[in-house]
Formats: sequence, C-alpha cells, structure tokens
Amino acid sequence: TYDSIGFIGLGVMGFPMVKNLATKLSSSTRIHVFDISTQTVDRLVAESEGRIASCSSSKDVADRSDIILSMVPEGSHVRSVYLTPSSGVLSSNLTSKLLIDCSTIDAATSLSVRSQILEHYPTATFYDAPVSGGNLGAQRATLTFMVGCSSNNPQFPLLQDLLGMMGSSIFACGGPSLGLTAKLCNNYCSGLIAIATSEAMNIGMRSGMDPRVLASIFHTSTAQSAICDKWCPVPGICPDAPASKGYQGGFKIQLMRKDFRLAVETAERVGVKLALGETGLKAYTDAMHDERCKDLDSRVIYRFLGGIED
Ligand code: NAD
Repeated sequence: TYDSIGFIGLGVMGFPMVKNLATKLSSSTRIHVFDISTQTVDRLVAESEGRIASCSSSKDVADRSDIILSMVPEGSHVRSVYLTPSSGVLSSNLTSKLLIDCSTIDAATSLSVRSQILEHYPTATFYDAPVSGGNLGAQRATLTFMVGCSSNNPQFPLLQDLLGMMGSSIFACGGPSLGLTAKLCNNYCSGLIAIATSEAMNIGMRSGMDPRVLASIFHTSTAQSAICDKWCPVPGICPDAPASKGYQGGFKIQLMRKDFRLAVETAERVGVKLALGETGLKAYTDAMHDERCKDLDSRVIYRFLGGIED
C-alpha cells in the first residue's frame, strides 16, 4: 500500500489517470493534485467525492506526497513544475521521494531536471515514463508506459505495480530518457501512418469507394494499423474516435507536431537518414496553423489534406 501520491497536470491525460488511481488505490492512500487550471482541479475534486485533495502548487503536492507524478504538455512546463523557485517540486524536501514524469518532452530537458533533482537529493529517484494510448487508454487504464530505467532496476516492480493501475503494458526501456526515445519513435511512426491512411482513404473515396469498406479492407490487409482500427482519421468509421466527434478530445495537433519535431531532431542527433521526416513535419506544422484544424485532434490532418467529410 502507498501512503500518499501526488499528481500534477490534469489535462486530457492526467485527469482520467488520477481517477483510475483513486479507484484502484487503497482508501488509506492520500491523493494530492495540482493544475494551473483551478477549474479543472475543482471539477476533479468534485467528481472524486472527497477522495482527492487539491493543492496550491507543485511544491505543495511534493510536500504532502511520497510519490509524485506529472503529466504536462512540453519541456517548458516540466521545468516550471519541477524547477520554479519557491513553488516548484524541487523547493520541497525530496529526500527518498519517487518522482515520475509522464509528459512527452525532449530527452535533454528530462535529463537536466533529473540531474538537478539528484544533485540536491541523492536519495530521490526520477524517471521519465511517457505513455501511449490516448485519452481512451487513459480512461480505460490501458495505457502503454515507456519507463526510462532498466528491467533489473530494483524500483521497477514498484513502478510496474503503480503504473499498472493506469496502464496495461509497462516497458523498461533501458536507462534515463530512453522511455522518451521510445515514445518519440512511436509517435514519429504513428504520425506518418495517420498521414498515409488519410491520403490512401482520400484516393479510394475520391475514386468512389465507400470508406467503411475500404477501412475494413485495411483492417484485414497490409495497411492495418491502430490508427486505422481505433483512431481512423475519416469521420464515421470508428464511433469512439475523435474524428467522429468533430475531432474534439484526443491528441491535439500541436502535441503531435511537437513530438514529430522532437523525433526528427533526435534522428539528426543520432545520425539517422529520414525520407519522410521533413515532409511530415511540414504537414503537421502547416495543419497546426490552419484555422480548420487548430487545437483539434491530430488526425484532423485528414481534413488538412482535403478529405471528404459529411
Ligand atoms: P493537456 O493540454 O490536455 O493537459 C495538460 C495539463 O497540464 C493542463 O491541464 C494544464 O493546465 C496543465 N499544466 C500546464 N502547465 C502546468 C504547470 N506548470 N503546473 C501545473 N499544471 C500545468 O495535455 P495532455 O493531452 O494531457 O498531454 C500531456 C502530455 O501527455 C503531453 O506531453 C502529451 O504529448 C502527452 N500525451 C498525450 C496524449 C493524448 O492523446 N492527449 C497521448 C500520449 C501522450
């Protein structure tokens, strides 16, 4: 059993992740949360019927918790959560505390935050543990966690137990920041699959095919993918997918563009030649600034590419 757990960042992902923790943790475990959006915190606290307590800052969460998780958008937010003088996590006494950042950010920021924490508190531990599975995976506790540690790390069983309350697959990726590497590789791939699926569906539909038939063919053929099966960019194919709900919810296009850019930068750093990197990055960058796509689920790339919607 856990004494106290803190969670910082209650957005599309963090909100349902904490709700799953609240359901699965023993009622003796105290849960403390913080988000800069007080409205979101109030909604979560109200929905939890007293199970979850709100805090006034990230430091306040850290003061009251042995284990602290964070789930915020970008590297700048992670730095702010951990390093802001007087209100950040590092202003708290972190002796022997376990810190887990689930945000998808660049490896350099994660390694820098980690080393600053360990420099001040050598007994603390910090892991990158980004996720895949989207809002639905977060709600259903079926996320994939990619943890920046080795499988023989003595804390890995504890991480498996804790993260297992929010996910169904927990991978040890090797060492610090390699969870992030795995996540960026995944999103590079899934971002390109979303573009390819959109383009292929467009070819079929503009030629007169029923998109449902074409998606069913992909499902049993070599174009099969999670994007096609669960997150189809074409409206009306997957009833639960953001595309069928006006591209609301899901994985915002600016987050996909961020991950895609980080993957392309990583490729440059490690000397990998990319045929599609710059092309994909330009498509997501242009779509992110397009009024018809702004702030919507990244699979709105289908709309950007002129896909038929009715
Ligand atoms: P989001 O924008 O919905 O939520 C982020 C939350 O963080 C917001 O509630 C915001 O108010 C809060 N926040 C920002 N700065 C903060 C600070 N300094 N202190 C406290 N709270 C702060 O984003 P999201 O979709 O939940 O994504 C979070 C992370 O998870 C991102 O790195 C994203 O790439 C990754 N991710 C998202 C998805 C998805 O499908 N949405 C899937 C996998 C991974």
